[in-house]
Amino acid sequence: MFMRIDKLQTELPAPRRADPNAAAALQELLGGKYGEMSTLGNYLFQSFNFRSKSKLRPFYSLVASITAEEMGHVELVSHAVAMLANGPDNDDDEVNGGDISGAPFEAMKDIRSFASFASAGGGALPVNSNSMSWNADMVTTTGNVVVDLLHNFHLECGARLHKLRVYETLTDPTGREVCGYLLVRGSVHAHAYALALKQITGVELEKFLPTPNIPLDKIPECQKYLQEGSHRRLYTWSPADYKEIAGIWGQGEQALPGDPPGALEVVDGLPEGGKIHQLSGIPSAFTPDYAPEEMMEIASKLYKASR
Ligand code: MN
Ligand code: MN
Repeated sequence: MFMRIDKLQTELPAPRRADPNAAAALQELLGGKYGEMSTLGNYLFQSFNFRSKSKLRPFYSLVASITAEEMGHVELVSHAVAMLANGPDNDDDEVNGGDISGAPFEAMKDIRSFASFASAGGGALPVNSNSMSWNADMVTTTGNVVVDLLHNFHLECGARLHKLRVYETLTDPTGREVCGYLLVRGSVHAHAYALALKQITGVELEKFLPTPNIPLDKIPECQKYLQEGSHRRLYTWSPADYKEIAGIWGQGEQALPGDPPGALEVVDGLPEGGKIHQLSGIPSAFTPDYAPEEMMEIASKLYKASR
């Protein structure tokens, strides 16, 4: 089962301006072929379908724990997409000014992903950068542990590749931070699947890595995460379970050459994380609509009653 924490996995800077086209580009990291919906879907169903879970526990726990991290990546990218589409942080919900006769959103008809505004109110959707739906064909769960792990290794390497390409299209700090963070975490996952394969078959996957051959130390947004050692850490994402991943990660063996030196480490639980940014209401876009002042007053009373 899953537990939910009301935070993002890392702290995101607020966008400098609304840029719905940058939000559309970032959608590739969410619903693209190698996006977070794909890694989540693969590990989720592989972990459900895993045979001989107790006998193969370190390998099962690896796929199961990374599943939870990918769920948080889906959350992180979705928030960044909505932040980019909506612009700088603004806690002041507009409650007046809902005049729609002057075409207040005329500019939106020219954005790449118009459906994100027209159908989803400027939020994130499980689609790629061209608004094509993510779909279940992106999920591979063969029931063969080696084939699944090899597929996951390919998926993480593909994800590194398309994160780099999306990164190269962005100038806003919000989108760049997401790419920097996910590049570091995706490298950890590629490394972990490579180590798991190395344990099972003896194959030297470090001769494949890093793929693509872009050292993280050339990307400014990765530096903070490298300095704090995020690239050396695998989390269990659980109060008590999945500790067996330490059999694969942190036994002196490594498969990702070129990383800054240091021992691999399993952390029980989860990282500290960062805050969830507010998306304020916009009457002319009918969000959140009905009677905003009345709803907020009701919510405020209910909140006080809950304390
Ligand atoms: Mn991910
Ligand atoms: Mn991953």
